[in-house]
Amino acid sequence: MTAVHVLDTAALLSRSVNLLSGENITTDSVLNEINMGRLGAQIGSLREIISTRTPDRDHIERVRSAAAASGDLRSLSETDIEIVALALQANGILLSDDYSVLNLCRSLGIKAETVEKPGISRMIKWVYRCTGCGRTIESRVCPVCGHEGKRYPAKTEKGH
Ligand SMILES: [Zn+2]
Repeated sequence: MTAVHVLDTAALLSRSVNLLSGENITTDSVLNEINMGRLGAQIGSLREIISTRTPDRDHIERVRSAAAASGDLRSLSETDIEIVALALQANGILLSDDYSVLNLCRSLGIKAETVEKPGISRMIKWVYRCTGCGRTIESRVCPVCGHEGKRYPAKTEKGH
């Protein structure tokens, strides 16, 4: 049996994806998140080495309930929920550096690994854009109009 690796945004941006044997999958929302950032053009060939799947509603609801119960729901985006739901559905190994995502995996009994290169998630600069007024904002909820912000990676930097 070949292992199924489920990769979140940080895992994909680590570029170690082509080193993983077996099947590599992600969700469309993860690829969209990457394409919205400046790294999109650089890694446009990702679709050739990874396939996308959509988690079904049942698994998304199971993940959402578990996140609510563990207190992680507030720090998770819709993209995070979907990638965990996909890992649950595909019985795969989730690769992520997000503490809340890893915590959620533990409570759902999903196998999870951190991204191979330590500290990679700190190299990603996350930007939120308000889905209401379009402002670039620093938090998940817009302080001006109250709509939810959508997160995407702006660029990577080696340290500061
Ligand atoms: Zn707004």
